[in-house]
Amino acid sequence: MRVRELFNYFKPYGFEIPNWKIAEEYGLDPREIIRMDLNTSPYLPQKWLKNLESKIPTLKINQYPDATYRDLVEEISSYARVKAEKIIPTNGGDEAIDIIVKAFIDSGCEAILSSPTYDYFRVSVELQGGRIINIQRRENFADNVEAILSAINDRTRVIFLCSPNNPTGNSIQYNDVLNILDKALDIAVVIDEAYYEYCGKTFIELTETYDNLIIVRTLSKAFGLAGARVGYIVASREAAKLLNKVRPPNSLNLIAIELAKIALRDYETALKNVRKTIKERERVRELLSTIPKIKAYPSEANFILFQLLEGDTKLLHRKLMEKGIVIRYLDPSWLQSYLRVTISLPEHNNRFLKTLERILKEEM
Ligand code: PMP
Repeated sequence: MRVRELFNYFKPYGFEIPNWKIAEEYGLDPREIIRMDLNTSPYLPQKWLKNLESKIPTLKINQYPDATYRDLVEEISSYARVKAEKIIPTNGGDEAIDIIVKAFIDSGCEAILSSPTYDYFRVSVELQGGRIINIQRRENFADNVEAILSAINDRTRVIFLCSPNNPTGNSIQYNDVLNILDKALDIAVVIDEAYYEYCGKTFIELTETYDNLIIVRTLSKAFGLAGARVGYIVASREAAKLLNKVRPPNSLNLIAIELAKIALRDYETALKNVRKTIKERERVRELLSTIPKIKAYPSEANFILFQLLEGDTKLLHRKLMEKGIVIRYLDPSWLQSYLRVTISLPEHNNRFLKTLERILKEEM
């Protein structure tokens, strides 16, 4: 087959291994596996599902959704406190990234990443024929703003920022954002706020002042709706107009739209779960820090990055997996001795901490 030249160098997204495969490979009962590698919420929103159930019989599923997603936009508008014309609902945050990339990246154009960061930025840009310029973060994981700004050239089209950043957990400084926006006035600056609710700091208000600012959000994390695939873009009016020209039609389905509306109307429930996760995050980090050979980093998201100061990180990752605890092993070229763990229910967090401690003491 005559495939794209891209396949000579393109590294696909690292698809997460499903539970049935882990169970098969390690001889486990799938029910004893706990996923602490996906940064999803451990809380199943049963109340919202029940509410959805009552609406399903009258859904006009034989028709396409409203092409403007008006009702959903209105709910997002009141939750995010932003005007409707600046909102574009998407099929998860990943589709939001794809839409932005489609609007700005021509073949041979460049996108700047503050690395390590969320890998889907790279995937999306490369698939569009663009090139990635990685600007390594500082030792404390802060964005290296000077280096980001000096990497800008005629081919630069997008700067991707992520706050709080996946996988490092830190958020971007307000002054750093202003600095970038002021100096890159003709370049799209994207801030991925997928984990916004866990830190409470947003840059949405700056879309009033800066035409080049685009915010990405999702209902996959704090709202616990990863399986429903709903996200949204908030952008300046000018950028929103442009993004609306390239977005695909009907990428959100009626059922997910109904569920998202129910969830957004009841955002207090989501925020209650966020508060529980934050409390657990601080408890887990404190306990992780007491384990010898482990260095845990502060986090403003629903996961913690930690470093194994001595020993084989890949082996530790596998030993946890053998015991049914799945955490994230990160791209070794950037973060050789690091692992990322998603904060889950207290009993799961305890099982992870106890198992980790035992492996380090007895098996490594
Ligand atoms: N942005 C970041 C930083 C993420 O970590 C994720 C989740 N992996 C996403 C976007 C996309 O999530 P979703 O497509 O489920 O909204």
